[in-house]
Amino acid sequence: MKHLILSGCAGRMGRMLESLIEQRDDCRIAAGVDPAPYHSEEFPVYSNWERCPPNADGILDFSSPAGLSPMLEFATGHGIPVVLGTTGLSPSQVEEVALASKTIPIFRAANFSLPVALMAHLVEETSRALGADFDIELLELHHRGKADAPSGTAKVLMDAANAGLGASLSPVYGREGDSQRQPGEIGVHSLRGGSFAGEHTVLFSGQGEALSIQHTALSREIFARGAIRAMLYLQGCPAGLYGMESLLQF
Ligand code: NAD
Repeated sequence: MKHLILSGCAGRMGRMLESLIEQRDDCRIAAGVDPAPYHSEEFPVYSNWERCPPNADGILDFSSPAGLSPMLEFATGHGIPVVLGTTGLSPSQVEEVALASKTIPIFRAANFSLPVALMAHLVEETSRALGADFDIELLELHHRGKADAPSGTAKVLMDAANAGLGASLSPVYGREGDSQRQPGEIGVHSLRGGSFAGEHTVLFSGQGEALSIQHTALSREIFARGAIRAMLYLQGCPAGLYGMESLLQF
Protein backbone atom coordinates (compact mmCIF):
# COMPACT_ATOMS: atom_id res chain seq x y z
CA MET A 1 0.00 0.00 0.00
CA LYS A 2 1.52 3.32 -1.10
CA HIS A 3 0.81 6.46 0.92
CA LEU A 4 0.55 9.56 -1.25
CA ILE A 5 0.38 13.31 -0.68
CA LEU A 6 -1.93 15.17 -3.04
CA SER A 7 -0.71 18.69 -3.83
CA GLY A 8 -3.55 20.82 -5.22
CA CYS A 9 -6.17 18.50 -3.68
CA ALA A 10 -8.95 21.12 -3.89
CA GLY A 11 -8.57 21.57 -7.65
CA ARG A 12 -10.20 19.80 -10.59
CA MET A 13 -7.39 17.26 -11.00
CA GLY A 14 -6.94 16.89 -7.23
CA ARG A 15 -10.59 15.93 -6.77
CA MET A 16 -10.46 13.54 -9.72
CA LEU A 17 -7.36 11.86 -8.24
CA GLU A 18 -9.05 11.63 -4.84
CA SER A 19 -12.07 9.83 -6.27
CA LEU A 20 -9.93 7.39 -8.32
CA ILE A 21 -7.49 6.62 -5.50
CA GLU A 22 -10.40 5.96 -3.12
CA GLN A 23 -11.41 3.04 -5.36
CA ARG A 24 -7.95 1.41 -5.32
CA ASP A 25 -6.37 -0.94 -2.83
CA ASP A 26 -2.70 -0.38 -3.83
CA CYS A 27 -2.53 3.27 -2.74
CA ARG A 28 -4.25 5.78 -0.46
CA ILE A 29 -4.01 9.50 0.19
CA ALA A 30 -2.11 10.25 3.39
CA ALA A 31 -2.55 14.03 3.18
CA GLY A 32 -3.56 16.87 0.92
CA VAL A 33 -1.88 20.25 0.49
CA ASP A 34 -3.78 23.23 -0.88
CA PRO A 35 -3.99 26.89 0.16
CA ALA A 36 -7.68 26.88 -0.86
CA PRO A 37 -10.14 25.71 1.81
CA TYR A 38 -10.93 22.02 1.34
CA HIS A 39 -12.28 19.30 3.57
CA SER A 40 -11.97 15.56 3.03
CA GLU A 41 -13.46 12.80 5.17
CA GLU A 42 -10.55 10.57 4.15
CA PHE A 43 -7.37 12.58 4.81
CA PRO A 44 -6.09 15.73 6.54
CA VAL A 45 -5.59 18.82 4.37
CA TYR A 46 -2.80 21.34 5.04
CA SER A 47 -2.64 24.86 3.67
CA ASN A 48 1.15 24.65 3.26
CA TRP A 49 4.01 22.16 3.43
CA GLU A 50 5.34 23.24 6.84
CA ARG A 51 2.77 21.25 8.83
CA CYS A 52 2.42 18.32 6.44
CA PRO A 53 3.82 15.04 7.87
CA PRO A 54 6.59 13.74 5.60
CA ASN A 55 5.89 9.99 5.89
CA ALA A 56 4.77 9.27 2.33
CA ASP A 57 5.81 7.17 -0.66
CA GLY A 58 5.09 9.88 -3.21
CA ILE A 59 3.70 13.32 -3.99
CA LEU A 60 1.19 13.84 -6.80
CA ASP A 61 1.37 17.51 -7.79
CA PHE A 62 -1.37 19.08 -9.91
CA SER A 63 -1.40 22.57 -8.48
CA SER A 64 0.18 25.82 -9.65
CA PRO A 65 3.69 26.92 -10.73
CA ALA A 66 3.62 29.27 -7.70
CA GLY A 67 3.76 26.22 -5.43
CA LEU A 68 6.67 24.45 -7.13
CA SER A 69 9.62 25.57 -4.94
CA PRO A 70 8.15 24.71 -1.51
CA MET A 71 6.87 21.38 -2.86
CA LEU A 72 10.31 20.44 -4.26
CA GLU A 73 12.01 21.60 -1.06
CA PHE A 74 9.73 19.29 0.95
CA ALA A 75 10.19 16.37 -1.46
CA THR A 76 13.99 16.60 -1.72
CA GLY A 77 14.33 17.28 2.03
CA HIS A 78 12.46 14.07 2.86
CA GLY A 79 13.51 11.95 -0.15
CA ILE A 80 9.96 11.58 -1.55
CA PRO A 81 9.39 10.79 -5.27
CA VAL A 82 7.24 13.28 -7.20
CA VAL A 83 4.80 12.95 -10.09
CA LEU A 84 4.61 16.47 -11.47
CA GLY A 85 1.63 17.33 -13.66
CA THR A 86 1.53 21.09 -13.11
CA THR A 87 2.05 22.99 -16.36
CA GLY A 88 3.05 26.56 -17.17
CA LEU A 89 6.48 26.29 -15.48
CA SER A 90 9.02 28.98 -16.39
CA PRO A 91 12.39 27.95 -17.91
CA SER A 92 14.08 28.54 -14.53
CA GLN A 93 11.47 26.34 -12.83
CA VAL A 94 12.16 23.59 -15.39
CA GLU A 95 15.84 23.85 -14.33
CA GLU A 96 14.77 23.70 -10.68
CA VAL A 97 12.96 20.42 -11.42
CA ALA A 98 16.05 19.03 -13.19
CA LEU A 99 18.21 19.96 -10.19
CA ALA A 100 15.80 18.32 -7.73
CA SER A 101 15.78 15.17 -9.88
CA LYS A 102 19.44 14.64 -8.97
CA THR A 103 18.20 13.92 -5.42
CA ILE A 104 14.80 12.23 -5.96
CA PRO A 105 12.95 10.50 -8.81
CA ILE A 106 10.61 12.95 -10.59
CA PHE A 107 8.14 11.93 -13.28
CA ARG A 108 7.15 15.07 -15.19
CA ALA A 109 4.59 15.15 -17.99
CA ALA A 110 2.53 17.95 -19.47
CA ASN A 111 -0.01 15.27 -20.35
CA PHE A 112 -0.37 11.87 -18.69
CA SER A 113 -2.35 10.33 -21.54
CA LEU A 114 -0.52 7.49 -23.28
CA PRO A 115 -2.11 8.27 -26.70
CA VAL A 116 -0.86 11.87 -26.38
CA ALA A 117 2.67 10.55 -25.81
CA LEU A 118 2.20 8.47 -28.95
CA MET A 119 0.81 11.55 -30.75
CA ALA A 120 4.01 13.49 -29.99
CA HIS A 121 5.99 10.63 -31.52
CA LEU A 122 3.72 10.62 -34.61
CA VAL A 123 4.06 14.41 -34.99
CA GLU A 124 7.84 14.11 -34.91
CA GLU A 125 7.84 11.31 -37.51
CA THR A 126 5.28 13.13 -39.72
CA SER A 127 7.24 16.39 -39.65
CA ARG A 128 10.38 14.49 -40.59
CA ALA A 129 8.62 12.65 -43.44
CA LEU A 130 6.72 15.62 -44.92
CA GLY A 131 9.44 18.22 -44.43
CA ALA A 132 9.25 21.98 -44.86
CA ASP A 133 6.78 21.85 -47.79
CA PHE A 134 3.96 21.28 -45.34
CA ASP A 135 2.78 24.14 -43.09
CA ILE A 136 2.18 23.15 -39.49
CA GLU A 137 -0.53 24.70 -37.32
CA LEU A 138 -1.45 23.66 -33.82
CA LEU A 139 -4.87 24.05 -32.20
CA GLU A 140 -5.68 23.35 -28.58
CA LEU A 141 -9.02 23.57 -26.81
CA HIS A 142 -9.52 23.63 -23.03
CA HIS A 143 -12.08 24.55 -20.36
CA ARG A 144 -12.60 28.18 -19.37
CA GLY A 145 -10.65 27.79 -16.10
CA LYS A 146 -7.30 26.78 -17.62
CA ALA A 147 -4.61 29.15 -16.35
CA ASP A 148 -1.84 28.82 -18.95
CA ALA A 149 -1.80 29.23 -22.74
CA PRO A 150 -0.65 27.64 -24.91
CA SER A 151 -1.11 24.35 -23.05
CA GLY A 152 1.91 22.39 -21.85
CA THR A 153 0.91 19.66 -24.31
CA ALA A 154 0.92 22.17 -27.20
CA LYS A 155 4.51 23.04 -26.27
CA VAL A 156 5.44 19.34 -26.25
CA LEU A 157 3.86 18.93 -29.72
CA MET A 158 5.71 22.01 -30.98
CA ASP A 159 8.99 20.54 -29.70
CA ALA A 160 8.12 17.28 -31.49
CA ALA A 161 7.54 19.12 -34.80
CA ASN A 162 10.87 20.94 -34.38
CA ALA A 163 12.67 17.70 -33.60
CA GLY A 164 11.23 16.06 -36.71
CA LEU A 165 12.16 18.95 -38.97
CA GLY A 166 15.55 19.46 -37.35
CA ALA A 167 14.65 23.15 -37.21
CA SER A 168 13.28 25.72 -34.85
CA LEU A 169 9.95 26.98 -36.16
CA SER A 170 8.89 30.46 -35.02
CA PRO A 171 5.62 30.27 -33.09
CA VAL A 172 2.90 32.72 -34.15
CA TYR A 173 0.12 32.85 -31.57
CA GLY A 174 -3.47 33.52 -32.75
CA ARG A 175 -3.04 35.55 -35.97
CA GLU A 176 -4.72 38.90 -36.33
CA GLY A 177 -4.63 41.69 -38.91
CA ASP A 178 -1.92 41.75 -41.59
CA SER A 179 -0.43 38.38 -40.79
CA GLN A 180 0.25 36.40 -43.95
CA ARG A 181 1.95 33.12 -43.21
CA GLN A 182 5.74 33.22 -43.55
CA PRO A 183 8.07 30.26 -44.15
CA GLY A 184 9.37 28.72 -40.95
CA GLU A 185 6.29 29.59 -38.88
CA ILE A 186 4.17 27.36 -36.70
CA GLY A 187 0.75 28.80 -35.87
CA VAL A 188 -0.45 28.11 -32.33
CA HIS A 189 -4.10 28.73 -31.45
CA SER A 190 -5.56 28.40 -27.96
CA LEU A 191 -9.33 28.08 -27.63
CA ARG A 192 -10.97 28.37 -24.19
CA GLY A 193 -14.48 27.76 -23.00
CA GLY A 194 -16.94 25.59 -21.11
CA SER A 195 -15.72 22.33 -19.65
CA PHE A 196 -13.55 20.77 -22.38
CA ALA A 197 -10.98 18.43 -20.77
CA GLY A 198 -8.50 19.05 -23.61
CA GLU A 199 -8.24 18.63 -27.36
CA HIS A 200 -5.06 18.97 -29.47
CA THR A 201 -4.83 19.01 -33.24
CA VAL A 202 -1.69 19.25 -35.35
CA LEU A 203 -2.53 20.19 -38.94
CA PHE A 204 -0.02 19.57 -41.73
CA SER A 205 -1.13 21.49 -44.85
CA GLY A 206 0.44 20.98 -48.27
CA GLN A 207 -0.54 21.84 -51.86
CA GLY A 208 -3.98 20.31 -52.40
CA GLU A 209 -3.98 18.07 -49.31
CA ALA A 210 -3.79 18.16 -45.55
CA LEU A 211 -3.21 15.70 -42.77
CA SER A 212 -4.32 16.26 -39.20
CA ILE A 213 -3.41 14.35 -36.08
CA GLN A 214 -5.85 14.88 -33.24
CA HIS A 215 -6.35 13.75 -29.68
CA THR A 216 -9.50 14.41 -27.66
CA ALA A 217 -9.65 13.93 -23.91
CA LEU A 218 -13.27 13.11 -23.08
CA SER A 219 -12.61 13.36 -19.34
CA ARG A 220 -9.72 14.43 -17.10
CA GLU A 221 -9.92 10.93 -15.63
CA ILE A 222 -7.37 9.79 -18.25
CA PHE A 223 -4.77 12.23 -16.84
CA ALA A 224 -5.44 11.09 -13.28
CA ARG A 225 -5.16 7.40 -14.24
CA GLY A 226 -1.89 8.11 -16.08
CA ALA A 227 -0.50 10.01 -13.09
CA ILE A 228 -1.27 7.11 -10.73
CA ARG A 229 0.38 4.74 -13.19
CA ALA A 230 3.44 7.03 -13.29
CA MET A 231 3.55 7.09 -9.48
CA LEU A 232 3.54 3.28 -9.27
CA TYR A 233 6.23 3.17 -11.98
CA LEU A 234 8.43 5.56 -9.93
CA GLN A 235 8.42 3.36 -6.82
CA GLY A 236 11.88 1.89 -6.46
CA CYS A 237 13.34 4.00 -9.31
CA PRO A 238 16.63 5.79 -8.62
CA ALA A 239 16.82 9.61 -8.59
CA GLY A 240 16.35 11.04 -12.08
CA LEU A 241 13.94 12.70 -14.44
CA TYR A 242 11.31 10.42 -15.98
CA GLY A 243 8.68 11.12 -18.65
CA MET A 244 5.96 9.43 -20.65
CA GLU A 245 8.53 7.78 -22.93
CA SER A 246 9.25 5.52 -19.92
CA LEU A 247 5.71 4.10 -20.26
CA LEU A 248 5.63 3.87 -24.07
CA GLN A 249 6.89 0.71 -25.69
CA PHE A 250 7.65 0.58 -29.41
P1 NAD B 1 -7.32 23.94 -10.70
O1 NAD B 1 -7.17 25.41 -10.82
O2 NAD B 1 -8.68 23.35 -10.72
O3 NAD B 1 -6.61 23.44 -9.34
C1 NAD B 1 -5.36 23.86 -8.90
C2 NAD B 1 -5.33 23.72 -7.40
O4 NAD B 1 -4.00 23.99 -6.94
C3 NAD B 1 -6.27 24.72 -6.68
O5 NAD B 1 -7.07 24.04 -5.74
C4 NAD B 1 -5.30 25.69 -6.01
O6 NAD B 1 -5.82 26.23 -4.80
C5 NAD B 1 -4.11 24.77 -5.76
N1 NAD B 1 -2.88 25.47 -5.49
C6 NAD B 1 -2.51 26.72 -5.84
N2 NAD B 1 -1.30 27.00 -5.31
C7 NAD B 1 -0.90 25.90 -4.62
C8 NAD B 1 0.24 25.59 -3.84
N3 NAD B 1 1.19 26.49 -3.66
N4 NAD B 1 0.32 24.34 -3.29
C9 NAD B 1 -0.67 23.44 -3.44
N5 NAD B 1 -1.80 23.70 -4.14
C10 NAD B 1 -1.90 24.92 -4.72
O7 NAD B 1 -6.42 23.31 -11.85
P2 NAD B 1 -6.45 21.82 -12.43
O8 NAD B 1 -7.32 21.79 -13.63
O9 NAD B 1 -6.67 20.85 -11.32
O10 NAD B 1 -4.95 21.71 -12.96
C11 NAD B 1 -3.85 21.84 -12.08
C12 NAD B 1 -2.56 21.83 -12.89
O11 NAD B 1 -2.42 20.56 -13.55
C13 NAD B 1 -2.51 22.89 -14.01
O12 NAD B 1 -1.18 23.34 -14.14
C14 NAD B 1 -2.93 22.10 -15.24
O13 NAD B 1 -2.47 22.65 -16.45
C15 NAD B 1 -2.26 20.78 -14.94
N6 NAD B 1 -2.83 19.63 -15.64
C16 NAD B 1 -1.95 18.72 -16.09
C17 NAD B 1 -2.41 17.57 -16.69
C18 NAD B 1 -1.40 16.52 -17.14
O14 NAD B 1 -1.81 15.48 -17.70
N7 NAD B 1 -0.10 16.75 -16.87
C19 NAD B 1 -3.78 17.35 -16.87
C20 NAD B 1 -4.67 18.31 -16.39
C21 NAD B 1 -4.18 19.45 -15.76
